[in-house]
Amino acid sequence: MHLSDNVPADAPATADWIRRAPKAVLHDHLDGGLRPATIIELARACGYTGLPSEDPAELAVWFRDAADSGSLERYLETFAHTCAVMQTREALFRIAAECAEDLAADGVVYAEVRYAPEQHLAGGLTLDEVVEAVNDGFREGERRTGGRITVGTLLTGMRHTDRSLEIAELTVAHRERGVAGFDIAGGEIGNPPARHLPAFQHLKRHNCHFTIHAGEAVGAESIHEAVQVCGAERIGHGVRITDDIQVHEDGTATLGHLAAYVRDNRIALEVCPTSNLQTGAAKDYATHPIDQLRRLGFRVTLNTDNRLVSGTTMSQEFQHMVDAFGYGPEVFEEFTVAAVEAAFLPLPERRRIIDEVVRPGYAAL
Ligand SMILES: [Zn+2]
Repeated sequence: MHLSDNVPADAPATADWIRRAPKAVLHDHLDGGLRPATIIELARACGYTGLPSEDPAELAVWFRDAADSGSLERYLETFAHTCAVMQTREALFRIAAECAEDLAADGVVYAEVRYAPEQHLAGGLTLDEVVEAVNDGFREGERRTGGRITVGTLLTGMRHTDRSLEIAELTVAHRERGVAGFDIAGGEIGNPPARHLPAFQHLKRHNCHFTIHAGEAVGAESIHEAVQVCGAERIGHGVRITDDIQVHEDGTATLGHLAAYVRDNRIALEVCPTSNLQTGAAKDYATHPIDQLRRLGFRVTLNTDNRLVSGTTMSQEFQHMVDAFGYGPEVFEEFTVAAVEAAFLPLPERRRIIDEVVRPGYAAL
């Protein structure tokens, strides 16, 4: 490939401001963003022999190829390898600390990183010990970056298991110590979110925040259930809300009642374009619905989903959007402010990050 084939003339300048632009990510999976070299070292330390390669560069490519299959179910298989090396306090602490460092190096100033505690019990840790190890790792990562990033965690319940109420209780128990909220993830087909209603009711009783993966593999009915039956404050992905939007020949659009409800109530969509391409939820960047949703006034946020598995970073997601839609810094400022506004943080803290970090950072670009 020749660089001139698809890199615009101003690419270096673009790459420079993208790197410096303050970013906020609300949808990033801890077990989908490990450093390849760390996976290999931890696999050796814990005796895990299932890795497809012991070379960091090769391993990174393997993850991306496996995820490029176009199937959500296959995409989720890649996590067996990362979770295999995330079974001790030391491993979880290190992975969380490195996650904070990597995000900060990419210009992320606020992150909510999610993981499913129940997937880290094979080494004998309790659920509470898993949460403490990850939280301690993030505090260490924040410290190493000199406070350039603030990280909260979301505890994920898995759609296909029956532990969501327990994980919701764990979320409430650790809410004052680094846990910002709760999420439901895993294969969407055949596992509707309302199966986990007791978990959501527990969170509501305790005034706790939660988001739900919906509208990725299943259409608008999944988003309807997440918002109206379960009470989700944000939607993970949510791109299939377009099923409830009719676009006319003249470019205008008519929103169905669900789409209007989501837009009018400012329910944030945690959009992850590269991940959507890999799971088949979108065809390519140029036709990805993010631009249409933004122009229709939805609260759109831009996210990575799985940095290792999708071979992406926040800067790369920015670059894809620049290439596809010609976005300049003002649009990324809009995405970043939207993400911080939708963060599971106290309002004064959200305002502080926007006024003291995000706005001045964009003004300086
Ligand atoms: Zn996700």
